Amino acid sequence: MGTATAGAAGVDWARLRRRLGERLVLPGDPGYDALRVPWNALYVNRRPAAIAKCVRAEDVQACLEFASRERIPVAARSGKHSYAAYSLPENGLVVDLAALSAVTVSGSRARIGAGTRLLPAYEAVGAAGQALPAGTCQTVGIGGLTLGGGIGVISRKYGLTSDHLVSARIVTPDGCLRTASAHSEPDLYWALRGGGGGNFGIVTEFTFRTDPAPDLTYFNLRYPAGAAADVVDAWQEWMDGAPDELWSGCTVESDRTKVTNVGGVYVGPKKDLLPLLDKMPRVAERTVQELSYLETMRLYAGGTGPGTRFAASSRMLRRHLPGDHVAALVQEQTDGAVLFDSFGGALGRVAPDATAFPHRDAKASAQIFFGAESRSEAAARRAVAEVRDGLGAGTTGYVNYIDPEMPDWPTAYYGRNLARLRRVARRYDPDRVLAFPQGL
Ligand SMILES: Cc1cc2nc3c(=O)[nH]c(=O)nc-3n(C[C@H](O)[C@H](O)[C@H](O)COP(=O)(O)OP(=O)(O)OC[C@H]3O[C@@H](n4cnc5c(N)ncnc54)[C@H](O)[C@@H]3O)c2cc1C
Repeated sequence: MGTATAGAAGVDWARLRRRLGERLVLPGDPGYDALRVPWNALYVNRRPAAIAKCVRAEDVQACLEFASRERIPVAARSGKHSYAAYSLPENGLVVDLAALSAVTVSGSRARIGAGTRLLPAYEAVGAAGQALPAGTCQTVGIGGLTLGGGIGVISRKYGLTSDHLVSARIVTPDGCLRTASAHSEPDLYWALRGGGGGNFGIVTEFTFRTDPAPDLTYFNLRYPAGAAADVVDAWQEWMDGAPDELWSGCTVESDRTKVTNVGGVYVGPKKDLLPLLDKMPRVAERTVQELSYLETMRLYAGGTGPGTRFAASSRMLRRHLPGDHVAALVQEQTDGAVLFDSFGGALGRVAPDATAFPHRDAKASAQIFFGAESRSEAAARRAVAEVRDGLGAGTTGYVNYIDPEMPDWPTAYYGRNLARLRRVARRYDPDRVLAFPQGL
């Protein structure tokens, strides 16, 4: 067993171990290295002082009281997918929520433990005949995803994941377990819907409003190499006039020899989607398939396990971007892609200050990914920055695609909601116990 005085110098880990027993994992303890692994392999060498495997809200309270008293960095960890590994503080305490993964569905309410990954959440909600709009990738955590907003393949019809948040059980840095809802701690409830993971406190459980699971039609259009500029123009015009039922994304690869892909989901039968697909340029390869809600979520769930080394960022698009500009910008680079996801519909009809998520008027988000497997981190970050800044979409970005080098990140992520968010953060975390490089 690792020594209870190991890690951050002078910290009395034995005291926390008396509360948590072997659920407190220190360097040298069995499993420490496996538990540490973040999603983005760029941060694989980061070493926290301790990882607390919490099984109940009281464990989270013990961790926050301890971190607050000892003045050590502390961060919640749900699905580990933070692009910048902000859930893995160097020399700090990781509050691991993986065991808080119970999902209970009753009527149109789903209570989801804050450490639940997306696929198990979909399985439980779908088995009850209900649906929750949330993201793709089966191992993303409901914790980080919801707190930053949560965009997904039925968001134009149903809104963001956080738009469905009815209440949250949250431990604030003073050690109190609170309920945030429209009727209780309303400012905190407002902030938890888009104000970003890692701020205000540590959520232990979410309660969401669900809808009856719809039948969906999945589609994919593959355009040949060389078509990127035309497809980006056509896709933007197509989505401008799309009904709420239609969601789609457009992927432009850095490699000129690769296809450009437009894929998405229609809430309804194939026969209603086909006339809409006919408005896009003709394509050699087209897949269209009717699926249940659960089948669709499984299809989008993707692979498992920690990822590769990558740098990423984002922009929010408010106007048409010329396709030839986008194609030239992305295809000047190597080993990366820009993924455009359509916004609008129900997502866009919420007022920008009704919840903390400010990007309601965006037409689309642009997610920018570049690999750092075969080149340095600095080179990958240069590619990200050139594309991000080259898109010309102003100071905007999605906090869930968190970019440690985002210029003016507070304005980019939070826009006009920034001042109110800072007030809420000061009220619930006056001593900045939860501070991290892009924390409020
Ligand atoms: C492969 C992949 C696919 C993705 N797909 C989508 C998508 O479809 N839609 C979308 O919107 N986003 C998507 N994302 C982005 C994702 O929403 C963010 O990375 C999100 O922050 C991940 O949450 P997590 O719980 O998995 O990560 P973590 O690293 O565990 O947490 C992320 C941040 O939230 C904090 N946090 C986590 N849990 C809590 C909690 N319970 N209370 C307080 N703070 C908490 C952490 O401290 C950290 O700062 C994707 C990311 C990846 C890597």
